[in-house]
Amino acid sequence: MMGFTKFSLKEKHREYRKWRKEKLFKGDVVHCTICNSNYREFGIFGNTKRKNAQCHNCGSLERHRLVWKYIQDNELINEPMRLLHFAPEKVFYNLFSDILEIEYFPCDLFPHVYNYKGKTKIMEVDITKIPFDDNSFDFILCNHVLEHIPHDQLAMSELFRVMRPGGFGIFQVPIDYNREATYEDFSITTEKGRLKAFGRRDHVRWYGKDYKDRLANVGFEVKEDDFVNTFSKEEQFKYGFDTSEKIYHCRKPYNRK
Ligand SMILES: [Zn+2]
Repeated sequence: MMGFTKFSLKEKHREYRKWRKEKLFKGDVVHCTICNSNYREFGIFGNTKRKNAQCHNCGSLERHRLVWKYIQDNELINEPMRLLHFAPEKVFYNLFSDILEIEYFPCDLFPHVYNYKGKTKIMEVDITKIPFDDNSFDFILCNHVLEHIPHDQLAMSELFRVMRPGGFGIFQVPIDYNREATYEDFSITTEKGRLKAFGRRDHVRWYGKDYKDRLANVGFEVKEDDFVNTFSKEEQFKYGFDTSEKIYHCRKPYNRK
């Protein structure tokens, strides 16, 4: 009985906070590409307190709205497909679970940390040892995952292996475009050391401009798409995009198995 009361109060607080935010940010200047809500501005988010970042309704961030806009504008989901999704973000998890054309496989190395209450079970998968057959997915989404993986070339070759020829993936990572070459140093193993060297406690490298070459190394055809800069300044603000994020759209050529 106590549990029920506590849960209800928590829910009520959440609803109140959402109602207050909706009221505070009422307007139609910005538009969430994921849940289609409109506001005066998106909310502040992150350690660096980025402005116009988080949707007040669905919680989407810049990178989610950009990737989804890219998928929609390029009509990438237009036929029945098997989708493998690493570290499934809640906004995408909810979206993909509801799209009839998608046979959805969300996965993570630590599935127990997710509490989505959705109908699709999150599977335990090590990205460097993917437990699926060769050529078995049409679409693989891996958004901000590879920067956490020490053996990223092994992970990339596994992504390539399980993708069907002609299939595609979107593999986003944070990139420092001031670096020609990716910086990694595996002697740095502490959280403090990684924070200082790579900007986050759980990152193991800073990718540089050669990120696309690392993907190409394992066989992908890589399109580095500056999609975000096909929009005007006003549109970039409207959708709350990060104007420095390029889309890494990778294909497995038809002649590869
Ligand atoms: Zn939203």
